[in-house]
This record gives sequence, structure tokens and C-alpha cells, in this order.
Amino acid sequence: MTRKRIDDTYRNSIEPPIYQNASYYFDNAEHVVAGMHDKTTKAGRYGRYSNPTWIEVEGRLSEINRSEDSLLFASGMAAHFTSFISFLKAGDEVLLPTESYRQVRNLFHVVLPRMGIVVHEFSIQDPDAFYERVIELRDKLALVHLEMPSSPHMFLVDIAKIKSALKAETIVTMDSSFAPPPNFYAIEWGIDLAIFSATKYLNGHGDIMAGVVSGRADLVDKVRWHRDTTGGIIDGVVANTLKRSLYTLDLRMERVNRSGLLVAEFLEEHERIAKVYYTGLDSHPHRGLAQKYLHGHGGVVTFELGLSEDATSEFVDSLEVPFMASNFGAPHTLVEQSTFFTYFEYTEEQLKTIGVDKSTVRLAIGFTQNVEDIIRDLDRAIENVP
Ligand SMILES: *Cc1c(COP(=O)(O)O)cnc(C)c1O
Repeated sequence: MTRKRIDDTYRNSIEPPIYQNASYYFDNAEHVVAGMHDKTTKAGRYGRYSNPTWIEVEGRLSEINRSEDSLLFASGMAAHFTSFISFLKAGDEVLLPTESYRQVRNLFHVVLPRMGIVVHEFSIQDPDAFYERVIELRDKLALVHLEMPSSPHMFLVDIAKIKSALKAETIVTMDSSFAPPPNFYAIEWGIDLAIFSATKYLNGHGDIMAGVVSGRADLVDKVRWHRDTTGGIIDGVVANTLKRSLYTLDLRMERVNRSGLLVAEFLEEHERIAKVYYTGLDSHPHRGLAQKYLHGHGGVVTFELGLSEDATSEFVDSLEVPFMASNFGAPHTLVEQSTFFTYFEYTEEQLKTIGVDKSTVRLAIGFTQNVEDIIRDLDRAIENVP
């Protein structure tokens, strides 16, 4: 086979082509100088550094997040890890909420301390107490990682207040996988880097794993260098799958916002349900913060039956509509009994620190689901509870 250029006649396709490519050629030595040495011409070089399909999707994500720049990753965890190692060095101190995503906590408690990073963790159940902790530590903090809404209770923090207490050079990252735009715009509240598991709502179809970092261009550049080097990159076809999903993000979020509120209201009115956690309800402990920060409350509804763990399992087993699975932001409705599923390895003591009751059920409503079917199913299952 001889060297052959691709026929690029069809540059007028409305949807850009999907690039799946390991390497890019240069025309001659002059092109190498312009494209690689001096960077006076844009040129592809190698597949780990950039890809036209990613660049297209990253541009779209910056529009959606109202951020200066964005990066794609192989998973939400790759996005988190690459971000943290881009800024932290031995001796740096960081703060995160106890209610953060389980594997993000593992990064902070197991992986980062090996690099000499000092980790402080504090609950956000009482946002004022968390704020006090920020004040106490403010002079020492290189980075504050926030997550809101948190799982399973959808706790929130007062970002504006926390930001105002921190030194300007402290980097503030936030995982808002549970509330992407249009429900919440982290960047607009001064978050430096918004980090998402795009596996969840951003993609929304349960068919890919992906992660996103959006934020200030100078910070994103640093994270890009670390992505180039550590390689947690996304595949071109997967990036294109995400691109397609982003067209319907608003529609999907509107639909689950509506369904979530209806299900939460149904459960709250039901006399056999002990407690409901949904930021769209006045009863949510952080309702005031929800009104300040959120435009919609999503499809995840958490409730407590006030029963034993076994009786709760019986209830969950008797549901016919949802899949028993720990994910959210998918086409299908998913349900998990928190202490039996995500937190099955936690001791009683650990469960107490994150405030998860044995009868906690997290229902993640799928955008394809008819809300009446979910309510009917819940109603029937509740009636059958012993
Ligand atoms: C799923 C999830 C992650 C991890 O993302 P992956 O895409 O599974 O790697 C991080 N944070 C939150 C809040 C999540 O729900």
C-alpha cells in the first residue's frame, strides 16, 4: 500500500465526522515546524493529545456549562483524578464533604495521601458547620472539592458563602453529576472546575462511560497537560455518542424534573413513608439553598420506609418497574436500597457518619418512563409492605 490522503470533499456534512485515529501526518518538514515546533498552524499530532471529535464535543460542553473551556475523559473518575493531580503536591491540604461520591472519597483517603496530600473531610448535613470548618482551615487549603447535590440525600452547600471565605488562590472543584445544566450552573457561582460523570445525566442513555471537566481556561490547560500525560482519554466514537446525547439534555432534564417532583410529592403524602429527600420539596433540609442554586431537582428521589433492612429489601424486591441497579440518569428507572447496595461494605459507624438509614431507598427515574407507571408500582409495593 502506498501513502494516500483521505478524500475530504464532504466537508459540508452537517454533523462532523467521527475521528478515530492514533496518528496524524505532516506534509513535509516545514509543516512539522509550523504545526509542532512553533504551533503557528493547527495540526493534529497524536491521538492521546487531541481529536477533532473531542474538540467538537468539548466546545459544546463549554457552551452548556457556560465555561471557558472543557475536557473529555474516559470516565468521571478519570476526570476527578486527573484534575486533582494537576494541582496538588506533597504537603498541600484539601477539604471535601463526607457525603462525596464513594470512590472520590477513596481517591482522597487512599490514593492522594500516598502523594503526601493532607485531607480534611467534614459533613455538609449542617451547611453552617461545614462553612465554619472552611473558615478554620482557609489559610491552609490548596483545594476544596465540593459535591452537590450529594447522594443519596441531595444535600447542598452554600457555594457563594464558601467562596467568599476562601483565599483567591484556593482552587474550588465541584462534582455536580446529579445536577448538570439546566438544573444547575456551577461555573456561574465561581466554581473553578466543574467535574461531571458524563456517564450519568450528560450522556443519559446508560450506554457509555465518560467524564467532563469544565472551567477556567488556565486551569483547564493544566488539566489537559496531565490528561495528555496520564492518558485517561475518551474514544472518538464514545465522544460522538455523548455529542448526540447532549442535543437532548434539556429535554431529558425537563422530563425527569417533572417526574421526580410528582413521585416525591406522591411519596411525601403517603402515610407509610417515613421520610422523603427531594430538593423540590419544602421539607428538604436544604430547601433554602435549593431555591438559591437549583433550577430543577432531577429524577433521583430518596426515601425512608422506617422499616428494618430486611423489610425494606422485601419492598424493593416487590417493585416491578425499576431495575435494581446503582446508577441514575439513564433511560430506565433504577432502584437501590442504599445500605444493601452502594454502602454494603460500610460499618454501622460509617453509615452513621453519612446519615444513611437502613430503610433508605434511592429511586432514579428514567426519562423514557411514564411517571404514572412508577407511582402505581410504588403504591402497590407500599400496600404490600408487612
Ligand atoms: C458516577 C459518579 C462518579 C464517577 O463517575 P464514573 O463515570 O462512574 O467514573 C463521580 N461522582 C458522582 C456523583 C457519580 O455519581
